[in-house]
Amino acid sequence: MGEFELIKRYFRGAALERAGDQSVVALGIGDDAALLNIPSGRQLVISTDSLVQDTHFPSRYSPDDLAYRALAAAVSDLAAMAARPLAFTLALTLPSVDEAWLRDFARGLAEAAQAFEISLIGGDTTRGPLNIGVTVFGDVLHGLGLQRAGAKPGDLLCVGGPLGDGAGGLAVALGQDLPATLSASERDYLYQRFWRPRAQCELGQALAGIATAGLDVSDGLLADAGHLASSSGIAVHIRAVDLPHSPALAHWPASQRLQWMLGGGDEYVLLFSLPPAQRARIDEWRTRGWCVSVIGEIQSGDGVWLDEGQGPQRVGRPAGYNHFQGAS
Ligand code: ADP
Ligand code: MG
Repeated sequence: MGEFELIKRYFRGAALERAGDQSVVALGIGDDAALLNIPSGRQLVISTDSLVQDTHFPSRYSPDDLAYRALAAAVSDLAAMAARPLAFTLALTLPSVDEAWLRDFARGLAEAAQAFEISLIGGDTTRGPLNIGVTVFGDVLHGLGLQRAGAKPGDLLCVGGPLGDGAGGLAVALGQDLPATLSASERDYLYQRFWRPRAQCELGQALAGIATAGLDVSDGLLADAGHLASSSGIAVHIRAVDLPHSPALAHWPASQRLQWMLGGGDEYVLLFSLPPAQRARIDEWRTRGWCVSVIGEIQSGDGVWLDEGQGPQRVGRPAGYNHFQGAS
């Protein structure tokens, strides 16, 4: 099967090409490039993510989950900018043409495209070690893109959902020893949280013009709080007792849970600063099903400070994942 036949068979069709707002895509797959209509008064938001086996995902995986995760992780960056997802491109490098693999991959990709209402508008297909590159395009009202800079002393520090599920989900995905009390449905919940994260697009869009700064938690809470602190030029104070976790995580010892909530990556929940005058919105958001919690506050100063009950302690160098650490 040639490249064109492969694209036609697996990546064309309404499920992928018309998953988002149809008025946006003026020209999709099939030409030298795609054309998007960006409504006037809005800015284009662009982000790229690559997934490499064993670095970004375990070698034991289902192709449908892998595709879902690749798109969800990329879309999460749009959510973190308060953007509306519009379209995406897929740069796929495959060691060989495995039709069963491609069918499953395309199905998972279509499920994610539908969930996040984002249309596939193009890509590239090449042979080589497995690599999945996704570029997402979104839009936001001019000037309202949510950035890492902008948090002010006195702002509330908020997260958009439970923490630690990314790391707990990885333990499930890797088939590690699990607590005997963890139920099958809780195990499945964690598996889904790892392989099919829900990028917080609706919450993100609701934060436009409301939150002062924000990002998605992909490196781990402390590391990403560090990014907020350095970009905004403020200190981030976190209270350990206020960190939210799912019922599934209650089956692990408290010390393990805290370590995961603070340091686990791949959470894909939003972390943002909210002026205290906007506090009432949190209840409103919760009634819409967005489990926003206040986990601390922004203060003048710098760095990340954690209070585990004995007062705030400055957290050392944020321990986010760094691909080139130790490499020459
Ligand atoms: P070109 O040679 O002009 O770069 P290609 O032959 O690479 O074009 O691709 C032909 C068309 O198929 C283009 O519209 C491209 O965007 C699209 N395409 C290629 N690979 C993919 C893919 N994996 N997913 C979606 N669209 C793809
Ligand atoms: Mg090409």
